[in-house]
Amino acid sequence: MSASSHAVVREVRFLLLGTGTSAGVPVIGCDCGVCTSDDPRDRRTRSGAAISFVDAAGHERLFLVDCGPDHREHSIRHRFKRVDGIFFTHDHVDHTFGLDDVRRYNAMMKSPIEVFADVRTRDFLERVYRHIFRRHENVNDSFVADLFVRTVAAGESFDRHGLRFTAFEVLHGRLPVLAYRIEALDAAGRVAEVQPGPLPLAYCTDLSAMPPAAWPRIAGLRTLVLDMLRYRAHPTHLTVDEAIAIAERARAGRTVFVHMTHDIRHATLEAELPPAMELGFDGMILTGSA
Ligand SMILES: [Zn+2]
Ligand SMILES: [Zn+2]
Ligand SMILES: [Zn+2]
Repeated sequence: MSASSHAVVREVRFLLLGTGTSAGVPVIGCDCGVCTSDDPRDRRTRSGAAISFVDAAGHERLFLVDCGPDHREHSIRHRFKRVDGIFFTHDHVDHTFGLDDVRRYNAMMKSPIEVFADVRTRDFLERVYRHIFRRHENVNDSFVADLFVRTVAAGESFDRHGLRFTAFEVLHGRLPVLAYRIEALDAAGRVAEVQPGPLPLAYCTDLSAMPPAAWPRIAGLRTLVLDMLRYRAHPTHLTVDEAIAIAERARAGRTVFVHMTHDIRHATLEAELPPAMELGFDGMILTGSA
């Protein structure tokens, strides 16, 4: 009998759908060198990610982390046919304003979609998407998304189709937001000792500080996806140097930076990063091997 337990899921891929900050890159009306660059890696849509895998029964599964205003483009680019759940990090527009479009998955799957959000984000979604959550008040009965929201508190875990998603808190300026650690489970429902593909992975976007309780959540990772806004200080995001310092301390097998502005030229900074660190780009797919 094998000494180490294996995951029940396979073909795990983590997709960086959008790697830009809230304005996207190019920025509207900007003629700077990055906004006019012909390197496709300097074109960054608004933030978002997905994890796809095959579950124990052989079914393809897909979960989103956030659903921003460029979600429709992301979905078409990657030919998504289903969404099994959406984990929200926080209530900012660049992470939430694509939710209306998920009604297409309801139609294709003929089932509701589970949405995970903290109390603040849940309140925001219910207010902004009133036509979805208070559908009975709509003047005409139109085609809206079918969602059920599960309230998430930091420290809570959710096991879905062979993966465990654990929410933890990071600080986006003064606002506590959620980050997620994703691990694969074994046949007994425990975290598998041998993790497949890019797992264990933590997705930490939109933060300016890693609180003490978050450090154990980003320990022992194969992959860390981490905020890195720009070179200059910012009240709610990590600078290049701050992000590198966190990556050096976390010591993931591989750290990939996201949520960048037009201050960052991909080819320039990529060449200067320490080992095991890379800049993300739209469409980047993280598997087990770099
Ligand atoms: Zn953001
Ligand atoms: Zn620019
Ligand atoms: Zn934000």
